[in-house]
Amino acid sequence: MERLREGGCACGAVRYRLRSEPLFVHCCHCLNCQRQTGSAFVINLLIESDRVELLGDRPNPIDTPGDGGSTQRIYRCPTCQVAVFSEYGRPDVWFVRGGTLDEPASVTPDVHIYTRSKVSWLTLPEPAPAFAAYYDIKALWPPPSFERLERLRRADPVEVPGAGVEPARPARGHPILSRARMTSFATPAGRTLATRRAEEPPAGSAPGRGSDRRRGSP
Ligand SMILES: [Zn+2]
Ligand SMILES: [Zn+2]
Repeated sequence: MERLREGGCACGAVRYRLRSEPLFVHCCHCLNCQRQTGSAFVINLLIESDRVELLGDRPNPIDTPGDGGSTQRIYRCPTCQVAVFSEYGRPDVWFVRGGTLDEPASVTPDVHIYTRSKVSWLTLPEPAPAFAAYYDIKALWPPPSFERLERLRRADPVEVPGAGVEPARPARGHPILSRARMTSFATPAGRTLATRRAEEPPAGSAPGRGSDRRRGSP
């Protein structure tokens, strides 16, 4: 039987229950997520928004600027302002913040993304797929999850503004939302952590936050 996870904000006004397993679980090391959480990374459970059952107050959507002109809609408790979900262009997929689960340890990331801005003191577990930026969803997601996403896309083929216009700027956001962007940011399927490490610049030569920001990193 599937376990129905629950979570909520700090004051308890916002409570939610996930009606199914998530589509996929991201650990995102991008600079936007670092800034928004005040931490080194965020854990996001990607799930259809209609599978998130709200048990208390409705969280407020706040459009939050990211680097490179991107916008992320973050849902916050109207009372304590803790962020519980966010959206990246598709309102039918929510990114539930893993730290707001009642049992945050009940999820393990399926993928680490934007590791080019990962803090250097953090060593990722070897088996976890990791990508310097984004990745090819179709290559990595279990087929049932990919089919769930395809159902959403067939029902609402959302195009993110600017999709495909700036393929040379892969850092603008989390491009789950559009095929065009996903394609332009895709990392070759099957790339392993070992190969990723081989491509990373040696420790100490990674660009700092300032230079990354100028490049428009999320
Ligand atoms: Zn609250
Ligand atoms: Zn991120």
